[in-house]
Parts: sequence; structure tokens; C-alpha cells
Amino acid sequence: MKKDFAVIGLGRFGGSICRRLSELGMEVLAMDNNEERVNEYASIASHAILGDSTDEAVLKEIGIRNFDHVIVAIGDNIQASILTTLILKELGVKHVTAKALNDYHEKVLLKIGADVVAHPERDMGIRIANNISTSTVLDYLELSDEHSIVEIVANERLGGNTIIGLNIRARYGINIVAIKRGSDIIVSPLASEKIWLGDILIVIGADTDIERFRKKVI
Ligand code: ADP
Repeated sequence: MKKDFAVIGLGRFGGSICRRLSELGMEVLAMDNNEERVNEYASIASHAILGDSTDEAVLKEIGIRNFDHVIVAIGDNIQASILTTLILKELGVKHVTAKALNDYHEKVLLKIGADVVAHPERDMGIRIANNISTSTVLDYLELSDEHSIVEIVANERLGGNTIIGLNIRARYGINIVAIKRGSDIIVSPLASEKIWLGDILIVIGADTDIERFRKKVI
């Protein structure tokens, strides 16, 4: 049987991943070496097991190789997190997402083959700073170090103009991928689409270009 996800470590981070995946209807195996945590997730995950993920035999026994994606959400035990990630990659797990506590930890996880490294405190801090630094930017998704998708509220300088009239793509090198207007969403708006005051523009581009656009027009 093809299994979906395994979450190792059921603290705040791993626990919320486990809970959300289960809500989304995914098959989730939850694992922790703390019995209380395992009991807490027994009714939430498809399976909850007590075990030490640094023990290769335990991981083999549960057939960890058959999982599409394993999330290593071990909190402050960096050694256990690294060892678990190493064993998972050695056993041939395709996708391993691991939580890092600091930059050094992140570097090591990437070096030993983690496919994605999450750094929740740092990333959330950056996200909140981006969101609160300007009242016109509602939300922000970092695509790479230099590119993002941002939600910008159209003010009176934008409202009433068409996209082509503002010449956004040529002038700033950014694209409006969608417009949220009340409960409507206009995906891939035409150049002739008129922007209304209060529209939420979902814009994609280089951070420097988005910033140029924001400074000039918002
Ligand atoms: P946070 O709340 O920041 O996500 P925690 O430290 O509270 O992090 O949670 C980490 C979880 O990982 C704990 O429930 C802990 O019992 C579990 N854990 C730590 N080491 C192992 C291990 N070797 N095997 C399985 N679970 C582990």
C-alpha cells in the first residue's frame, strides 16, 4: 500500500503539520518517543506510534521507505534531528522535510540530503516584518531569495486605470497574476482590465521591482 506522510516529532510544529494533513484527508503516520504526545495524536493521525527515530531498526520496521514524504519535526535535539534525517535519506525516502533550529543546523540538514528545510521561527519573523512594514502589502510569499508574490491593495493612484494604461509590466517588470475584488477573483486579468479602488492585486516579480512599484504608486 502506498502511504502518504509520516511526521516524526509531535511538538507544536510537527503537531500542527500532522493535524492539518489529517484535516486535508491525508494518510498520516505520527511518531514520537514521548508517550503522552503519541496518545494525544492517536485520534488525529491515521496511526500514531511510540518510537525513537534515531533507531534505524524502528524506522525499517514501520516501512518508512514506503512513505512519500517524511517530516522531521524534532525540536531542540539537533543531534536526533540530523541522525534521523540521515537514516531516512540512506533508507531511500524520496522527500524529507526537516525543521532547523539555526543556520548551522540548516546547512548540515541540506548537506546530508534533506529536500526542504523549514526554519519556522525565522521565516515567520520575516513574513510578519514584511507584512507590517507597509499597510498596503497584505500578504507575501517568498518564491526565492529575490522573487516574491505579494498582495497589494489598489489605492486611488491605481484605481480607475487599466493595467495597460499603467504599463506595469514594461515599467516595473512585474505581472499582475490575479485581482481579488470582494468575493470575486479575476485570474490572469487582461491588459484592458480596469483596476478598482480597493482591489487586491496579486503581483509577481523581483523584490526590487515590486519595491520600485510600491514606492512609486502605492
Ligand atoms: P516544537 O514545539 O518547537 O515543534 P518540541 O521540542 O516541543 O518542538 O517537539 C519535538 C518533539 O520531537 C517532541 O514531542 C519530542 O518528544 C520529539 N522527539 C525528539 N526526539 C525524538 C526522537 N529521537 N524520536 C522521536 N521523537 C522525538
